[in-house]
Amino acid sequence: MTDTFIPAAKPIIGDDERAAVDRVLLSGMVAQGPEVAEFEREFAVEMVEGRASVAVNSGTSGLHLGLLASGVGAGDEVIVPSFTFAATGNSVALTGATPVFADIEPDYFSLDPRAVEAAITPRTKGIMPVHLYGHPALMAELRAVADRHGVALYEDAAQAHGAEIDGHRVGTFGTFAMFSLYPTKNMTSGEGGMVSCADEMIVRNVKLLRNQGMEKQYENELIGFNNRMTDIHAAIGRVQLTKVGAWTEARRSNAAFLDANLQGVVIPRVAPGARHVYHQYTVRVPEDRDGFVTALREEHAIGSGVYYPIPNHRLPSLAHFAPALDLPETEKAASEVASLPVHPSLSQSDLERIVAAVNAVAMAGA
Ligand SMILES: *Cc1c(COP(=O)(O)O)cnc(C)c1O
Repeated sequence: MTDTFIPAAKPIIGDDERAAVDRVLLSGMVAQGPEVAEFEREFAVEMVEGRASVAVNSGTSGLHLGLLASGVGAGDEVIVPSFTFAATGNSVALTGATPVFADIEPDYFSLDPRAVEAAITPRTKGIMPVHLYGHPALMAELRAVADRHGVALYEDAAQAHGAEIDGHRVGTFGTFAMFSLYPTKNMTSGEGGMVSCADEMIVRNVKLLRNQGMEKQYENELIGFNNRMTDIHAAIGRVQLTKVGAWTEARRSNAAFLDANLQGVVIPRVAPGARHVYHQYTVRVPEDRDGFVTALREEHAIGSGVYYPIPNHRLPSLAHFAPALDLPETEKAASEVASLPVHPSLSQSDLERIVAAVNAVAMAGA
């Protein structure tokens, strides 16, 4: 084995980010301050059509505070996918509400609007789809279900910076939307999250909850958290925000190359009117997915990922919310998916190696 390993993900952090951090460190003011305020303003304009955005210390905090700010709490139910990262359901549970897991549709791995409608009860407060892998959820259909039943729509946009559907950015559909800024996401601040808010009331509530319930110093209005972002992290995020557009184009062009050349696996579909930002390039491997992943790594030095092998409704942490629930499309996806490298650092020869390896392994398995 002489080929260098191609990792499944690769955060890009360069001299501009280092210089920005240095500028903040030299200023001596490192906690939440002017860099955070500028980052929020710039993110709103660049990412969510001007929607007011509030920075927090992680994506998970963003979901938690967004839900609390929207009035979700004990006695409520929020419908979420089970086929996602555990933070989606966790954030609902952390408010005291019950995550209700609904199945996905098979084409885009997104919440199935019909399954959502079937899961609505008098306790349902909202629906929180995930724009999984960077593909937007079916927002028009989900909006119709939400409106029919008078419930809210929230967005877990952790993986979908810049994705669009029906001419609008993800993050502009829900009462709130959360974008993660974790290093493996399409852009990073080190750790961090951004909450885009539909109205001033949500903005104010998220800001209060982020900072001990204080707007005026030491006049705490409610019981809050310390979920603030630091100016150090915001400075990194501001630099990344200027680059994420080009990185997304690189992801999309890498995906187009893989689409055109892969054989023996089911390539990702894109819904009509959707702009996929390929946080992950996720194929289905109907036969022996685990063997496929192992062969890519061991025989071809190519990393890949399985997101996510255990549906949330069967995790030891969340299973008690869903005794005896059966979600067939979720189970099928969990057993078939594999995400191939698609990140902007891939060279043309990397892409060709990925194609040759996948096609050889898929052929051998067929
Ligand atoms: C990453 C992620 C989160 C959590 O974001 P953090 O910044 O890691 O807290 C939530 N939901 C989904 C779908 C994610 O991928």
